Amino acid sequence: MAAAKKPRYVDVANPDLAVDCPHCGLRTARFIDSCRNCGYKLWPSSHMASAAFQAWRAADPDRTLASRFDLEVPHPIDNTFDFSARARELGIHLFPNSNYPFIICVGALFLGLAAIPLSATTRIALAVIGGVIFLYGVVGWVVFEDTRMFPSDGGETGTEVHH
Ligand SMILES: [Zn+2]
Repeated sequence: MAAAKKPRYVDVANPDLAVDCPHCGLRTARFIDSCRNCGYKLWPSSHMASAAFQAWRAADPDRTLASRFDLEVPHPIDNTFDFSARARELGIHLFPNSNYPFIICVGALFLGLAAIPLSATTRIALAVIGGVIFLYGVVGWVVFEDTRMFPSDGGETGTEVHH
């Protein structure tokens, strides 16, 4: 494989990732060797376009996320949203996150396997394993997490919105 040639010239100071094609005038990616709209050759080769892109990207740490197929440098947006705070504001009761439903499903899987007509001992063993896991999940979810969520003394009811 031929080594990528060094770009003869790339203006790394220009922050644009898109250019107006000199042939058709439409906006196109600057570091793709030919225009997306009309196919006009912007770079002598794809290798050279890629090398130019890498030189351009290395010039500024803000450009690390850029792809040469993009028309703009992507900026990561912090779109994390506090749904529980929003729900509290709206007076909607949200159940806390729980992993117990997964455990219940694993238990149900073994209980289902116990329904396969295999030897009696295998079926009993599967039913016991499934039953234990299933009950562990149900008890954990319904008894422990539920009591943590709804304390019997009703300590947190004062903060809730009632309609
Ligand atoms: Zn063009």
